[in-house]
Amino acid sequence: MNKIDLHMHTNHSDGTFTPRELVRHAKEKALTCISVTDHDTMSSFDECADEAKKLGIELIPGIEISAQFEPGTLHILGFFLDPKQPRLRSTLESVQKARGERNPQIIEKLNQLGIEITLKEVVAESGGKQIGRPHFARVLFKKGVVKSMDEAFEKYLGKGKAAYIDKRRLSSRESIQRIREAGGIAVIAHPKQMRLNEKELAAEFERLVGEGLGGIEAYNSCQSREEAGLYKRLAKRFNLLVTGGSDFHGANKPDVELGNLGNGAALDYETVERMKASLGK
Ligand code: AMP
Ligand code: FE
Ligand code: FE
Ligand code: ZN
Repeated sequence: MNKIDLHMHTNHSDGTFTPRELVRHAKEKALTCISVTDHDTMSSFDECADEAKKLGIELIPGIEISAQFEPGTLHILGFFLDPKQPRLRSTLESVQKARGERNPQIIEKLNQLGIEITLKEVVAESGGKQIGRPHFARVLFKKGVVKSMDEAFEKYLGKGKAAYIDKRRLSSRESIQRIREAGGIAVIAHPKQMRLNEKELAAEFERLVGEGLGGIEAYNSCQSREEAGLYKRLAKRFNLLVTGGSDFHGANKPDVELGNLGNGAALDYETVERMKASLGK
């Protein structure tokens, strides 16, 4: 059985492992095929690819784009896309800019709540790379403002909480188009986080299929076996590919290990073959 994991983050977004450390960790976990899916950036790709080549691991170019959505969260994974495609690159640059505008606003909100925290501390936590809310959460945790990363999101950083600031996001249509124009397949990440019931989910998938969606991440460490079953049924109904990944973030999600797709679920290499076939590879 091949061990594959198609969802993980480096410190170029909100993971804590460097690209090379992440690929080495994948090797330690005996994974044979991985996709590194940083939020809104592919800047770790070259280093990951170099390390993967050295260690004999297959690396699928990947990304996870945050799209506009209510009431929950809509993240769209892209697989097999070209990191150098100009339109994708310029779109990602504009998304980085929106993050840059959000960060000082989160600091301001936290300060207004009486919490002493500076942007400099968060920048240091991110290692000077793309800042995400988990970096704010870690600073709050290290300072003893909260007792866990979860508490930081529960009280301050989660959607609608005291220090939540929304950032400009791409629409689902734009996200899917950018992925497809760059030669990739678009897949809904962790559908559980959309926070919809079965009927609403089906309607939403139908809409997204109309926008060019190619798959659903039925397996993710945040989804139960029953949930995975539901997503697989919906995938079948809409003729979508099924993928899976751990959503590993290193110390920023301490309970999630690489290769853990939730409740002992496993994916075999056929998943990857199906994706390649759908792209004519
Ligand atoms: P950002 O892209 O900066 O908005 O941050 C989003 C990231 O924060 C997600 O990808 C998760 O890694 C993390 N995150 C969001 N909500 C939560 C939550 N409720 N608990 C823990 N981590 C979360
Ligand atoms: Fe994340
Ligand atoms: Fe996500
Ligand atoms: Zn993720």
